[in-house]
Amino acid sequence: MKITYSVIAPIYNEIENLPELYRRVKQVMDSSGETWELILVDDGSTDGSTEKIREIAQADKQVRPVIFARNFGHQVAITAGWDYARGEAVIIIDADLQDPPETMLELAKKWKEGYEVVYAVRAEREGETWFKKFTAAMFYRLIYSITDVKIPVDTGDFRLMDRKVVNVLKQMKERHRFPRGMSAWVGFKQIGVEYKRAARVAGVTKYPFKKMLKLALNAITGFSYFPLQVATYFGFFSAGISILAIPIVAYMRMTGSHFFEGQTTTLISVLFLGGVQLISLGILGEYIGRLYDEAKGRPLYIVRDAPEDQ
Ligand code: UDP
Ligand code: MG
Repeated sequence: MKITYSVIAPIYNEIENLPELYRRVKQVMDSSGETWELILVDDGSTDGSTEKIREIAQADKQVRPVIFARNFGHQVAITAGWDYARGEAVIIIDADLQDPPETMLELAKKWKEGYEVVYAVRAEREGETWFKKFTAAMFYRLIYSITDVKIPVDTGDFRLMDRKVVNVLKQMKERHRFPRGMSAWVGFKQIGVEYKRAARVAGVTKYPFKKMLKLALNAITGFSYFPLQVATYFGFFSAGISILAIPIVAYMRMTGSHFFEGQTTTLISVLFLGGVQLISLGILGEYIGRLYDEAKGRPLYIVRDAPEDQ
């Protein structure tokens, strides 16, 4: 049977949200009058979500469970969803219902008009702390300004993609992933649809500051060499300053000034350069670590249980 829509929801300890997620996705998808499937990717949940997913899938064959062997992270869970999706259009949605399933119909409308990537833009965010909103806003703008691909701001992973796009994304095997960047990178006909991001229905965010930082690093290193270039800029800057300083200090000494005597200036410049060098090394290390991960070529994720027809 041909499937029109594949809805992918990554799940990490969302037991309270699962029944409501299923109910609303089913309602919306049934109302579209087309065939659909819901792929629930269990990203190593420990709160009983796994059993709940199995239960829902048992009762409704349109629900396909992909159960990971452990927690691999949101981005990797989305990737597994792409691998198992069979639909003509693939939609990624958060399991906590912050992305209203009803918006999927608006995304689908644009798809029918011929757009191949329809991303949902957060016009408003409800029920999130100012810290989350502030760091998110900074994050989107930083990424936009330093990466080589123009990744739309205030846009999460909530989006619809045509089968053609998903087939390309499936070939992109990078380990440290940033799906929204990847789907901007591929090109195709893209458009945004504004929506109001709701508050979480239940539970707490699974994105503590540390995970957000990791995501930001994946986005920056995955789509830009800017941090590596910063070392070069710093190098030129400090070299430039010291070249300028040589004649000035020589002149002052010859005219009898004792301004630069003592160890303080030496100490400051040594510390400054030492700092710059260590930071540059750290940046290099970030990229080398990522290269090393790629070189190992381990599988992106391990499934304990998944539908047979991939
Ligand atoms: N998620 C996941 N693995 C993780 C963390 C989160 O699959 O390691 C899922 C989570 O269950 C949810 C989605 O990713 O469906 C978005 O997470 P969350 O709502 O916690 O992020 P926020 O909306 O706070 O940025
Ligand atoms: Mg959320």
